[in-house]
Amino acid sequence: MKNTSILVIEDEQDIRDLISFQLKTEGHNVILAESVDKAISIVERPEKIDLFIIDWMLPGVMSGLEFTKKLRAQKTYSDTPIIMITALTQPDNIVAALDAGADDYITKPFDLNVLQARIRVQLRNIEKDEKNSEDTLDFGLLKIEISKCRVLVDKEEVNLTSTEFKILSILVQKPGHVFTREQFINNIQGENIFVTGRTIDTHIAGLRKKIGSAANMIETIRGIGYRFKDTL
Ligand code: CA
Repeated sequence: MKNTSILVIEDEQDIRDLISFQLKTEGHNVILAESVDKAISIVERPEKIDLFIIDWMLPGVMSGLEFTKKLRAQKTYSDTPIIMITALTQPDNIVAALDAGADDYITKPFDLNVLQARIRVQLRNIEKDEKNSEDTLDFGLLKIEISKCRVLVDKEEVNLTSTEFKILSILVQKPGHVFTREQFINNIQGENIFVTGRTIDTHIAGLRKKIGSAANMIETIRGIGYRFKDTL
């Protein structure tokens, strides 16, 4: 993969310097901003950012959370990995960050090695997307043929309802990413179906039962949502 450009938005200089030093030793191209004001002028440049690390609480025009929402509304950055860092640690905060569009969330104080590992997961997902544009997603025990809506567990086909299939396809798009119930609802809600957080739980339970030996690939993140296990 080419040199990745990472934009770090963090108002505490010590943390900013620490992250910057660590990422540079990893060979990344690091761009620093101490506020959203500064970050806005950076994202307006033609050079594309490959990954964002955004502190939630920032002085200035808007918080990191609001900036995350803003980025998601832009075509250029609707899908670029965002890792949010913050001192807020409650499940509600985490849900808010994920709902705003963050791909991952890390609480302060954090270990730089953990941050690096999270960055690697996000960058790996980009690589997978780049080469995995073909139709079959292969997770070993579990294989999914998206266009045919076919799911195979240990080479045996399993019959899922369309909602179960949708939930599974959302999860496997981003292994390691935690999806909130709200995000499933927004993706699934349609003309003929109405879903709530509780019905999502019910569908997940049904899905796990049907995929049997692959069920533990879907993890419950208590109070927050669900995640497909990053198998690598
Ligand atoms: Ca801060």
